[in-house]
Order: sequence, then structure tokens, then C-alpha cells
Amino acid sequence: MIDLHTHSTNSDGSESATGVVEQAFANGSGQLRALALTDHDTMAGHAEAKAACDRLGITFVPGCEISAQLDTGKSAHILVYFVEEDSAISEMLAVLRNDRDTRNERLVAKLHELGYPVQWERIIAAAGNPEVVGRPHFAEEIERIDGGREFPSRQAIFDDLLGNDGRAYIPKAKISPREVVEAARETNSLVVLAHPYVYGLPDEERERQIRLMAEIGAHGVETYYSRNFPEQTERLLELCDELGLVPTGGSDFHGTMKPDLRVVTGMEERPLSVPDSVLDRLLELRA
Ligand code: AMP
Ligand code: ZN
Ligand code: FE
Ligand code: FE
Repeated sequence: MIDLHTHSTNSDGSESATGVVEQAFANGSGQLRALALTDHDTMAGHAEAKAACDRLGITFVPGCEISAQLDTGKSAHILVYFVEEDSAISEMLAVLRNDRDTRNERLVAKLHELGYPVQWERIIAAAGNPEVVGRPHFAEEIERIDGGREFPSRQAIFDDLLGNDGRAYIPKAKISPREVVEAARETNSLVVLAHPYVYGLPDEERERQIRLMAEIGAHGVETYYSRNFPEQTERLLELCDELGLVPTGGSDFHGTMKPDLRVVTGMEERPLSVPDSVLDRLLELRA
């Protein structure tokens, strides 16, 4: 049992890096072999997560999640594994954090303009790390000031305001999957397309994007994923098999920021179980 997709307070998760590891260990009931921390745009939690994994006898995989722009202009998430400090990837992350800062400033202004007086000070206080404030933190703040009057849920806030088609959407830096692959190559880091069913793409377009990932030299597709239905996982397994990609997997745990996703075990309704063989295949690719 492994989990290759988790978030901590170093980005938009609610648990510390140690907390993520400890919860993962508990949910793994003695079967957990490896855990990756894949915070958005940062490796800030790696040292802490590694120490906790070492203490509990779990293999730690240092990772990150990057928002990239597809050739259609739509955004998709890329997971990078075995990332290192002082590398092309860490430089890319610094650029992205800087851009996120600018985006957040503009997002505050845009929300004010639309009549939602969000307070930046309160957002960073709640987020913990001001460097990686994300839209989920904005959703939390809007929920606080709205008090349930206009928006029945956080999802409603994304649908109307913060989502990529929302009224307050502000685009971030445009990095292509190819640029991520090229940067990763320098340190023999591995590149995986995250949760292909999350982007709302038609079947044909999703498959075209997966084929494109294989063509540009990506290593895998996140196939075992908390929110996937069994037939979706099956389809991704077939595609990975055909294209020689590693079918990776993870929960996308964010603690209370996504309360239905449990670390390691995913959703209660359709429990996640990522096979250890995935890690073996990733390690083989680096050998
Ligand atoms: P950011 O990194 O600030 O662009 O925020 C990205 C995060 O916002 C994603 O990882 C999701 O957790 C969340 N998010 C983005 N779009 C949506 C959406 N339409 N519905 C729900 N959550 C979303
Ligand atoms: Zn996130
Ligand atoms: Fe993601
Ligand atoms: Fe994620």
C-alpha cells in the first residue's frame, strides 16, 4: 500500500507534513510502504515529512504538483517525483510561487470589485504559509464572509467565482507539460499527469492528452485516484499499458480542505488501494 499524492500546510492542506505522515501510517494499518508529499509549487515540507517517514519505517518520495497549461489552453496538474533542491524543477517552483503571489494580489482586488471584501491578512493567517496561498484558502475566506447567505457550499464558490470559468478567475503562469518534462530530466525526476478525470475533458480529448504526455516523455498517469470510478481506473490502466506509462496513484489528501478524501484509503464509498508495484516501477525507471 502506498500513497503518492498528498498535501500539507506547506500548500493547501490542513495538516502539517508530520501530521500527514502520521495519519497515513495509521490508515495504512501496518501495510504502508511509501508516501509522497506533493504540495503545490513547493518542496518546503520535504525535510519534515522525510524525518517522520524515517521514524515510522516508510519510504519517502519527495514530490510536488504543478499546474500546467495544455495545448488547448486548459489547465492540468502535473506531479513530479524525486525532485531535488537547487535544480531546474526547484527554480520552476520558485517562479510559480512568485507568480502565485501576483495572482493572489489581483484575485483580492477582483473579489473586492465583485463585492466580496476578502481580507488578505486573514487568508494568510488561516493558510499558515503565505507563499503558497491557493484558491481553496480564498474559498474558505469567502465562506467566512458569506456566512451561508449566497453560497451553500465551497463548491458553489468555485462554480460561481474561483473556478477556471468563474467570474473572479485570474490565470497563473503558463508552463507546458513539455517544459516540466525537460526540467525534470536534469535530476532524473519523474513526471506524471495527475487525476485525468478531474478536468472535465471529453473522453477523446482526455485520451489525446494522455497520448501527448507519452510522446513528450512523461513517465506515468495517475490511475488509482480517490475520486475515480472503477471503470475510469480500468480505462487508464489500459491506456498506460498501451503507451508504456506507469499507472501511479494517490489520494490527493488535503485534510479538512477536502474532507471526503482520506490519506491512503481515499473515499469511504470507494476505497483507494494503490499497489506497491507502482513504486517498484518508478524506482526501476530511475535505476
Ligand atoms: P490554485 O493552486 O490556487 O490555482 O488552486 C488550485 C486548487 O483549487 C486545486 O488544487 C483544487 O483544490 C481547487 N480547485 C480549482 N478549481 C476548482 C473547482 N472548479 N472546484 C473545486 N475545487 C477547485
Ligand atoms: Zn491542493
Ligand atoms: Fe491536483
Ligand atoms: Fe493535489
